[in-house]
Amino acid sequence: MSAAFRASRTGRGRLLPAVWLLVLLAVSWPGAGLAKGLHYGVTRWDMRDGLPHNMVHDIAQDRQGFIWVATWEGVARFNGRSFTVYDNENTEQARLSGVFSLLAEADGSILVGTAVDGIYRHHQGQWRAYGDAALRQLRVEDMLRTADGTLWLSSRHQLYRLDAQGRPQQVDFPSGIEPGQIHALRADGDDLLVASLNGAWQVHNGRARPWGQAQGFAGKQVRQIDRDGAGGWVLACDDGVWRWHADGRSERVVASNRISQAMVDSRQALWVVGNDGQVLRIASDGSRQQLALDGLPSRAFLEDREGLLWLGDSLGLTRLSPGAVRALTQRNGLGDSYVRTVLQTANGSTWIGHASGIQRWQDGALGPLLAMPDTRLSTTVTALAADPHGDGVWAGTYEQGVLRFDGAGRLLQQLPVSYASARSLMVRTLLPTAQGMLVGTPRGLLRLDADGQVQPLGKQLGLGEHAVQVLSRDEQGQIWIGTEAGMAMLRPDGRLRHWQPERDLPAYAVFDFLHDADGTVWVASDSGLLRLRDGALQVYDHHAGLPRDKMFRILDDGHRRLWLSSNQGVFRVARSEFAAFDANRHDLLAVDVIDSSDGMPSSQVNGATWPAGWQHRDGQLMFPTGRGLALIDPELAGRDRNAVPPVVLEQVLVNGVRQPLQAAYRLQQRTNRLSITYAALAFASPHKLRYRYRLLGFERDWVEVGEGTEAVYTNLPPGDYRFQVQAMAMPLDWSRSQRLGSAELAIVQVPVFWQRPLVLATAALLLLLVLFSGWRLRVHHYERRQRRLNALVAQRTEELHRKNVALVAAGRERDELLGRLERLALYDSLTALPNRRAADGYLQQALDQAAASGTPLSVALIDVDHFKQVNDGYGHQVGDRVLAHLGRLLSEPSEGAVFAARQGGEEFLLVMPNTALARGRQRMQVLCAEVAGAQLAQAPAITVSIGVAGYGPGRDQVHTLLAAADANLYRAKEGGRNQVVG
Ligand code: GH3
Ligand code: MG
Ligand code: MG
Repeated sequence: MSAAFRASRTGRGRLLPAVWLLVLLAVSWPGAGLAKGLHYGVTRWDMRDGLPHNMVHDIAQDRQGFIWVATWEGVARFNGRSFTVYDNENTEQARLSGVFSLLAEADGSILVGTAVDGIYRHHQGQWRAYGDAALRQLRVEDMLRTADGTLWLSSRHQLYRLDAQGRPQQVDFPSGIEPGQIHALRADGDDLLVASLNGAWQVHNGRARPWGQAQGFAGKQVRQIDRDGAGGWVLACDDGVWRWHADGRSERVVASNRISQAMVDSRQALWVVGNDGQVLRIASDGSRQQLALDGLPSRAFLEDREGLLWLGDSLGLTRLSPGAVRALTQRNGLGDSYVRTVLQTANGSTWIGHASGIQRWQDGALGPLLAMPDTRLSTTVTALAADPHGDGVWAGTYEQGVLRFDGAGRLLQQLPVSYASARSLMVRTLLPTAQGMLVGTPRGLLRLDADGQVQPLGKQLGLGEHAVQVLSRDEQGQIWIGTEAGMAMLRPDGRLRHWQPERDLPAYAVFDFLHDADGTVWVASDSGLLRLRDGALQVYDHHAGLPRDKMFRILDDGHRRLWLSSNQGVFRVARSEFAAFDANRHDLLAVDVIDSSDGMPSSQVNGATWPAGWQHRDGQLMFPTGRGLALIDPELAGRDRNAVPPVVLEQVLVNGVRQPLQAAYRLQQRTNRLSITYAALAFASPHKLRYRYRLLGFERDWVEVGEGTEAVYTNLPPGDYRFQVQAMAMPLDWSRSQRLGSAELAIVQVPVFWQRPLVLATAALLLLLVLFSGWRLRVHHYERRQRRLNALVAQRTEELHRKNVALVAAGRERDELLGRLERLALYDSLTALPNRRAADGYLQQALDQAAASGTPLSVALIDVDHFKQVNDGYGHQVGDRVLAHLGRLLSEPSEGAVFAARQGGEEFLLVMPNTALARGRQRMQVLCAEVAGAQLAQAPAITVSIGVAGYGPGRDQVHTLLAAADANLYRAKEGGRNQVVG
């Protein structure tokens, strides 16, 4: 029974469609240049991403943090990753088509104003019609709640307030003036401000009066009113955007007759949207940025709690996210997107080396490609060093040696880097010194002397010809050399300290050094970030929380943070993190990753050339990538990452049925499947969110599910549970509770009736009873069967015994029979003499014996003469009697042992052992006479003829001896019968 309670969960939730795929549209911001400051990444969503319709009328953020979007075909709720659509078809309780307006309420609910069916309210997952039935007929274009709690709504040309019964009450405007088309509503405490075709209005105590009459706003067509963030107002009018300062002054800040929207954001920047989709941002310092939306704008315009801006237009939903990373690419005039090296010289020029050459960037303007000596060769610039004797730079190239440019970018000098057989070596790094130019090449460290000589310095120092990737000089004038096989430090006195891989260094390739004032050296290597302090090396790699072990460049942003470039973005780590990690206060370093999702042109930062990154004097960090130069504002980058992502429960399904959202559930039915969907509502970088959850009472440990947003439990046993889910934006370190967002749910699974104790006890008792009677029945059955078996065994034993006795008797009979048969086989029944078979056996034995002992042996063949006549004359019976008589006569020999046998018919054999032939013949003559003289009652007298033969050469086999006797018998017959021949 208990097996049915096995509970399980799915570790990873169903991955929601990746609608947040950041399509960072290339937006041009003319006038923005590449100055430090906020930059906006643009992300768009439309029907392909799950919006019910591309015409977005309104946008709101509810108390939990969801972004709601009103469209022609219903509303959509956005969690940063996917849209949940509520429309006419899937929402029974509401007719959600033609949605014009949204109002997020303080209680967490959202009001939805529709074109033909009044207002609906969504609260905790449930939809209800809102207000009185009279509302149902209204086209609700805008809604607003003033501080006193009054709900106002605009419908075509009318303004209404809802009374206590939820009935719309029309607001009267002074006679002769109509509000006309109402464009927008704005609250001012308990008062309502109305932007309309017929000017601006203020509704005070239920009465409407012109607003800003002295400033002329009463007569203008006013599209929007917003607070200016400084106690005054901003009005979007048909002749431009006006600012009505707190001191009463008014001024036109944008002159245009094509204004659709104006809004002031939390950074006090004024956003102006033109009818044509042009968006203008005027920062608080007056600087302007501009971008173009593709579609026709609607009045949907919202700044969310994270400071992201959401706009609606005829092509969908647009999000503008302020970011800290920009890209300097071919679009900005860069000669090539494959950037290798970057450096700023003292005069403020930034020099950018890339695959097509070198360019100077100064005062926000990118200069032309500088002239190179030979255009037939590769013009790739791979290394840079400031010229110590001027404003210019030394540039190391791929094929053209080392070039010297002056501050204006003119080529002054070319030093060839030819060594051994190589005509020209690639220059990875450069260091001008008083003793000449040090050059890191794939063939080791070289020194270019003033007279044009190339010295293999690395070889001379004992470093071999390993590729050199970085050369840097510290405060003490020591030169640090990073190679593909270890590193070295050259003291001013010429002594060298060498760290060899495996022996002295836990790394092979060394790409960069950062020297701290206290003498600490940070080393970027292929095996992590190394710190050399007081002679001891410490490694920080993926075990310490860095996403990659191979890092190319180390920059300190001047705010005690290190920036480490890699093939997967740039890692930012506060210096205090290393101390905390060393002291075991944290298991992992908190590493913030800045990558293409933050606006970098590519996450792959180029390295192994030097310098592969530089801090601009304005504080920005510049990194060369495969798709342009990345410019990161370290002040702003990752600023919002430490914000706590609010976690919300989106949906609870019990056995597939959606439940109203609430903090606690009491599940009465048996729960086969419980599904809880959750989301962290952080819209700036939802792809950097990670989740974990647990069900207390069921599991104690957190289940880390990465980006999974659904927890599923099946066959939940009765009990009290608490479901907890937590979210954190990367960098992930669950021990940092101040960065954790969380949500929880109480769940009580009530035992279904058969799970209740009494029912269970009764069931157990019943089961016991059933088991007991079953056991009794079985025992009884076995006993009966046992008895039957015993009787059967007795019967079978008796039968066996009887059969055994019969078998013994049969055996005896058989033995007798066999004896008889044997006798039959060897004896002749008429004469009781041995037959011919027996005679052959005997004769063989007698021959063997005679041969062995050398004693004589004689045989005689005896045949009755004219026996045919006896039979013919007296009958066969008489013949038989004669034969039997003869048999007796033969078996009673007068002397010595003799063996007599009936050879067949009326012919007999006599074997006479120890009897020589003469003696045998003699005895046979006696026998012959004896037969002839014998008288048998009622039988004629007979005679016999006898052939005798003796054992000897040629007569030593049974057949040869008998043949000899037979031949003599034949002769006896021939000789007249009644005689012996032998
Ligand atoms: P001979 O002097 O040349 O031996 O003449 P014979 O008649 O004795 O020789 P033959 O071989 O022509 O005849 C043998 C007869 O013996 C023929 C057969 O019927 C008879 N005989 C053989 N066995 C028996 C027997 O068991 N009982 C009787 N009554 N007659 C037998
Ligand atoms: Mg015969
Ligand atoms: Mg005969």
